[in-house]
Amino acid sequence: MGTPRVAIYPGSFDPPTNGHLDIVQRAATLFDRVVIGVGTNLAKRTAFTANERIELMREACAKLPNVEVRGFDGLQVEFAREVGATFVIRGIRALSDFEFEFEMANMNRQLAPEVEMVFLMTSPEYLFLSASRVKELAAFGAPVDRYVPPNVAKRLADQAKKGGLRTGATEPSD
Ligand code: ADP
Repeated sequence: MGTPRVAIYPGSFDPPTNGHLDIVQRAATLFDRVVIGVGTNLAKRTAFTANERIELMREACAKLPNVEVRGFDGLQVEFAREVGATFVIRGIRALSDFEFEFEMANMNRQLAPEVEMVFLMTSPEYLFLSASRVKELAAFGAPVDRYVPPNVAKRLADQAKKGGLRTGATEPSD
């Protein structure tokens, strides 16, 4: 047995969707250990607090033994080094994701040449699924059970009732 292959999967996960979970499940079969990094200090406003996003992701991944969830605050490559990972996983949907990811990958390579970026293409059913769209639907009371795990659907419904989804609903990038 060689050195364990450890990957991080960083993101805002505001909230986690089935698209994110599809990437996590596939990554869990490719790597010995996957550490999901929930960004705690994001430039964009989030509908859910860092602790809520971590908790939602933990619940959703509870059955995957080689997956753990942590908060992180800083650069992706620093988080990778911190947990002993040499891979960074990102999901790719459409061309719009590509340009941003390409730029980020080049930056990461300069900062940490020993860390390899791994891009997993979204499964077709999640191609048009984004956390923003899900929040928008939930804010208007539409059902979101097809798009998110049950714990997230419940939390979205609670948050929508409190009127707490309107602010996050227009973020374009997730
Ligand atoms: P970030 O703000 O870092 O982009 P997100 O939570 O929006 O964080 O996304 C985290 C990762 O998951 C990114 O690599 C993103 O491209 C990917 N992702 C988001 N939605 C989907 C989806 N529907 N299918 C596959 N990957 C996705």
